[in-house]
Amino acid sequence: MAEAKVSNDLTIEERLRALYNLQKVDSEIDKIKILRGELPLEVQDLEDEIEGLHTRIEKIEAERQEKETAISDKKIEIKEAEALIKKYEEQQNNVRNNREFDALSKEIEFQNLEIEFFNKNIKDFGFKIEQLTKSLENSQKLVEERLLDLKQKKDELEAITQETEKEEAQLKARSEEYASAIDNRLVTAYKRIREKARNGLAVVLVERDACGGCFNKIPPQRQLDIRMRNKVTVCEYCGRVLVDKDIEISMEELEKRLQEERALEAAKQEKRAKRRTSRAKKADK
Ligand SMILES: [Zn+2]
Repeated sequence: MAEAKVSNDLTIEERLRALYNLQKVDSEIDKIKILRGELPLEVQDLEDEIEGLHTRIEKIEAERQEKETAISDKKIEIKEAEALIKKYEEQQNNVRNNREFDALSKEIEFQNLEIEFFNKNIKDFGFKIEQLTKSLENSQKLVEERLLDLKQKKDELEAITQETEKEEAQLKARSEEYASAIDNRLVTAYKRIREKARNGLAVVLVERDACGGCFNKIPPQRQLDIRMRNKVTVCEYCGRVLVDKDIEISMEELEKRLQEERALEAAKQEKRAKRRTSRAKKADK
C-alpha cells in the first residue's frame, strides 16, 4: 500500500510500484465502467430526446391555440359583416334614388365577398389545426414510448450502480491515494498514455520477454534495466511504462528469496554429492 508520502520521498522503485498499483486499481474501475457500458450515454440521449419532444409539443400547442383564436376572430368578423349587410338592406328600403340603392348593393356585395373570404380562412385554419393535432398525437405517443425506454434503461443502470457503487468509490479513493504519492509529471504522463492506449493500460508487465501491452519483444539488456528498477522505462513500440513481473515484491525481498533458493539448491547438491560418495563407497566394498 502507498503511504501518504510526498512524491520526493519515494525511490524510483517505489514510484514504479505505486504506478503499477495505480494501474491495477484504475483497471478495476475500468471493468466496472465496461459493466455499465453505454447505459449512461443511452440514458442521456433519451433524456435529451424527451426534452426536445416536450419543446416540440409546446410549440405545436401554441400554434394550434393561435389558429383557434384566429378562427374565433374570423367568426366575429363574419358577424360584423352580416350586421352591416342587414343595416344596408334596411337602408335600401329608404333610398331616395337608384344611385343610392346601387351604392348600397355594392357595399352588400363587398361584405358578402368578405364573408366568403373569412369562411375560406376558417376552413384553412381548421385544416391546419387537424394537421397540428395529428403531429401533436404522434409526438405525445413518441414521448410515452421514450419514457418507457428511459425507465427501463434507468432501472438497469440503477441496478448495476447499486451493485458496484461502494466498490467503485473505494477504488477511486485508492486510485487518488496512489496518484498523490507519485509526482505530478509521472501521473500526467500515465494518464496521457492511458487515454491513448487500448484497454486503458499505461503500465504493463514484461511477460515472456515481451511488452505486456503490445507484445513486441524486449531486448535482454532492456529487460535487465527494467529489473534493476532504477529508472522509468517505456516500451519503444507503444510507449507504455514497463515493469518487471515481480514489481510488487521489493528488491530486498527478491534478493532474500534468491539467496534462499540458492541455499536450497546448494543443500540439494550437497545431499546428492553425499549420496554419490556413499554409493561409491558401497560399490567399493
Ligand atoms: Zn509495448
